[in-house]
Amino acid sequence: MTRSGTVLPEKATHRQTRTFNQQLVLRALYDQSPLSRADLARMTGLTRTSVGGLVGTLIDDGLIKESGRGRSSGGKSPILLRVDPDGRHLIGLDLGEAQFSGAVVNLRGEILRSIHLPPDGDSDATIELVFQLVDALRADDRSDLLGIGIGAPGIIDTSTGTVLWSVNQQWAELRLGPLLEERYGVPVVVANDSHAAALAELTFFRRPRPKNLIVIRVGRGVGAGIILNGQLFQGDGYGAGEFGHVSVGDAEAPCRCGRDGCLETATSMRSLVDAARAVEPSITDEGTLVSAFLAGVTGIRRIVLDAARELGVAVGWLIGVLNVRHILLVGPVAGFGDDWLGEVRRSARSSALALLARDTQIEFGHVHDDVVVLGASALLMEQQLGLGLVR
Ligand SMILES: [Zn+2]
Repeated sequence: MTRSGTVLPEKATHRQTRTFNQQLVLRALYDQSPLSRADLARMTGLTRTSVGGLVGTLIDDGLIKESGRGRSSGGKSPILLRVDPDGRHLIGLDLGEAQFSGAVVNLRGEILRSIHLPPDGDSDATIELVFQLVDALRADDRSDLLGIGIGAPGIIDTSTGTVLWSVNQQWAELRLGPLLEERYGVPVVVANDSHAAALAELTFFRRPRPKNLIVIRVGRGVGAGIILNGQLFQGDGYGAGEFGHVSVGDAEAPCRCGRDGCLETATSMRSLVDAARAVEPSITDEGTLVSAFLAGVTGIRRIVLDAARELGVAVGWLIGVLNVRHILLVGPVAGFGDDWLGEVRRSARSSALALLARDTQIEFGHVHDDVVVLGASALLMEQQLGLGLVR
């Protein structure tokens, strides 16, 4: 099956029509398994004969399987079909600042095996490390590999699989996609890590899928993935959601991007660890910071909750600009729990128009550690099989 499209071209070839219809059937099953052939015909508007043919191909392809029988409405009880979660495996990579993670993931976003390695500076070393990760993950997985999805920090041209620029990793023009495609001979997609996080939530954890969704990732950096009208919105230059590098208030702290006072310098885990260490020297990393916060250490609570308020103001701006009603927060900040979330909510609601803020849900997402690995896999699944986004 080839790259998906959201609409069938007006003068579609026979092959395009078949691929399009096949994706309709697969998508219906992915979202609403189990279904009978008759259900599928009703839901897709295709004839029973077409559905029969398409289902046959999908079964031969290993993507779906027959499983059990449904309730009879008079005649013979119908055979039910569902997507085979292990019909394809995917490799998802998260090239994070603190560690590189890789996982073998199935079509339902279940992580079957994962590996973590410390990152290693320059571009050449990075490529070698990525090869090592993929080699190790492929070594004992014999299943049919759909491809490789990669989430990385920075501005990423997804059409060419190139990291254009990454503040945190000092990469520029890193052609990850083509290099991996050449070595492994499978499709490779590369996306910004926060964009990937949004796809992970949308594809694997939200039912029904909202048409609009913002997922804000707060870890060492701060960034958002934005889904608008069911599609990932990347902006004109792939930088949508990079609001971690927007100056806020009159803060003057130098940012790693070369400017001063970015939101990231006030609200990221990295900046919180630094600020907390100045008050309490035993705080050295995210884990000790979260513990001190949960233990109620006074100075630390103030630092963390002040940052939550600052982030909340920025969330209020997003609500005012986009009027998106589902906003999720993911990443290590989730460790701070409901007190932190409550502060973000209060601040966001008081900084946005009441009518808009009232209907906006601000919550923690479902996954935090593996959200980028899953999101990179979701992007691959969307591109190769047409599963995930809203149509
Ligand atoms: Zn910055």
